[in-house]
Amino acid sequence: MITAEQLHEKLKHVTIGGTSCQYPIEKCEELAPLINRVHELKKEKNAVILVHSYVSPEIVYGIADYTGDSYALSKNAMEADADVIVFVAVKFMGDTAKILNPQKDVLIPAGLNGCSLADSITGDDVAKLKAQHPDYTFVCYINTTAEVKAHCDVCVTSGNVYDIVEKLPTNKIFFLPDKLMGLNIIEEMDRRNVKKDIKLWHGTCYVHEDYNPEMIDYLRLTNPGIEVLAHPECSPGVLNHSDFVGSTSQLLNYMETAKAESFLMLTECGLSSRLQVEMPNVKFVGSCSMCKYMKANTLEDILRVLESPEEKDYIRIDENVRQKAMNCIEKMFEYAEK
Ligand code: SF4
Repeated sequence: MITAEQLHEKLKHVTIGGTSCQYPIEKCEELAPLINRVHELKKEKNAVILVHSYVSPEIVYGIADYTGDSYALSKNAMEADADVIVFVAVKFMGDTAKILNPQKDVLIPAGLNGCSLADSITGDDVAKLKAQHPDYTFVCYINTTAEVKAHCDVCVTSGNVYDIVEKLPTNKIFFLPDKLMGLNIIEEMDRRNVKKDIKLWHGTCYVHEDYNPEMIDYLRLTNPGIEVLAHPECSPGVLNHSDFVGSTSQLLNYMETAKAESFLMLTECGLSSRLQVEMPNVKFVGSCSMCKYMKANTLEDILRVLESPEEKDYIRIDENVRQKAMNCIEKMFEYAEK
């Protein structure tokens, strides 16, 4: 059981995210009973709740069994001794959990399913591209649907993308769907003196696409000593203006030993909110870049899928597609360990 006072105490330092991510005691009084009801239902249904770091803080800190990025959460799902997985994120992340956990029910509570990146390409698009480029190895970012993964040779995460592309025993790579991450791969391969012919799809994450080098220059000028951390879904210009680049897990790890007094996090503002809770003495500069899909998850939605899930809330994947998508993910595990 959590009280409104305990919730307020936990979340009172969150400021990034505007009024929707601020926690006066009155708001905590409304949230605490919902949180407690979710905990009761979770026990009744033997459910595990996985929450992406970009989701609202009351969900991250109120009900999550595990919090992290899509890859880490899917691995958590494999280890959890639960009948039901509630994946509080966006649908393609639930797909990955279902690919890895076919015997478990995977429920997605998000009221607004989507993702500008994953939605930029379909399995049919990949099939057409493969017919046009038969001698290319198709590498997909983990932010893709099961159908897209089923057509690709190997999957990557933002944490292992550079190393896997370098290790692939081919010079011809088609990377999809993130154009900006693809441009970053091309720059990184140049830096590593690795020669690869890399073709790209045109998808982008609308949150990370929004950052630009001029904004970083301005914030450095107005906040001397600030350290800038960026996610590889940002443009090469932004990464070249940043002090550290990494996946959300790598950014969190970096912060554990970082020495600066103020930081600019160039990723969805849920990560800054998390850090404001966990590092209340550190200053985070900048406004919120919010993912409307991630923030569409609410405690009410989670309660609803636990109490009386509808067919639309379940992740269903054709077994043939799942097997092929699994092969694509297993190839990633293989290369990551090489
Ligand atoms: S932050 Fe970007 S990649 Fe992540 S779910 Fe939102 S739109 Fe998709």
